[in-house]
Amino acid sequence: MEDLKNLLPNELRDFMVSLGQPSYRGDQIFSWIHRHFASSFDEMTNLPLPLRQRLKETAFITRLNVLSKKEGSKGTVKYLLETHDSNAIEAVRMEYEYGITACLSTQAGCMRACSFCASGIAGFVRNLTASEIVDEALRIQEDVESFGAHVGNIVLMGTGEPLDNYDASIKALYILNSQLGLGISFRRMTVSTCGVVPGIRRLAEEEIPVTLSVSLHAPTDDVRQRLMPINRQYSIAQLMDATAYYRERTGRRVTFEYALIRDVNDSDSHAYQLANLLKQQSAHVNLIPLNPIDERDYMRPTTARINRFSKILRNASVPVTVRRDLGLDVNAACGQLRRRYCR
Ligand code: SF4
Repeated sequence: MEDLKNLLPNELRDFMVSLGQPSYRGDQIFSWIHRHFASSFDEMTNLPLPLRQRLKETAFITRLNVLSKKEGSKGTVKYLLETHDSNAIEAVRMEYEYGITACLSTQAGCMRACSFCASGIAGFVRNLTASEIVDEALRIQEDVESFGAHVGNIVLMGTGEPLDNYDASIKALYILNSQLGLGISFRRMTVSTCGVVPGIRRLAEEEIPVTLSVSLHAPTDDVRQRLMPINRQYSIAQLMDATAYYRERTGRRVTFEYALIRDVNDSDSHAYQLANLLKQQSAHVNLIPLNPIDERDYMRPTTARINRFSKILRNASVPVTVRRDLGLDVNAACGQLRRRYCR
């Protein structure tokens, strides 16, 4: 059985041709799925009845079940979604002044085990399919359309490491970019990684102008290794080479995420080391005061410490923003809502 939500328009046209149909039927079906949120062939009223019957026998359309929606302040909504095999995954809708952003998960769980992350603690379950990743965005789009809004930005920053599920994650972006569907520009998409060096190089060669966001979280191998096991596989030096290559190939400035954790990576000397590391990178740093999680005793730095850290970076001419706490009040430390639900 073919999962039609997994297919790009040209693939859907080919599929229709393989069924002995004119190729334009593929575009009609793509539009039903991605513009009208159809999840059954009976809804596709401009398709002949025998074709609808044939499709029921040969294909299906993935649709995630919305288990719950939890609203926070500042327009943040966290969706808990269920896959066909009863995995609970998360997507977050955020409203910024420049439009609606959908933050999508790419895996059920995660194998990277970053020590500050609830998803890492829970472990890995499986990769999501492109259709499941796309459907997270469609579930959000269906909601916001009711008040005339449109998902304009995609960030792969939910549960999972997108570059460990490269094919499905990037295919989902191509599908979401299609003009027959949501038509979201690649420039309004962000791929976040904990530092999967071969994946960064592969993405650079993809030649789609998405923003690359790297979870750095420490300026030295020593500190990073304690926070992020991936640093034993790929050192900071290897990561810096890969991000420089990404910038060279795509012309896009790389964003570095840095979760500030009290007494772990928030000292003045960490800030100076970080400035030194990034000054050649023409990078942008997002400082994220840590969302506390139950399972670890990591603490959020004081506001004075956060301000001091960002000032050191700014004084060294490293562009920096302190991320506002969207989602903190809906347990947006990644993986947390899913774990609460599963208990
Ligand atoms: S921070 Fe990201 S890469 Fe690290 S464990 Fe959590 S989901 Fe995985």
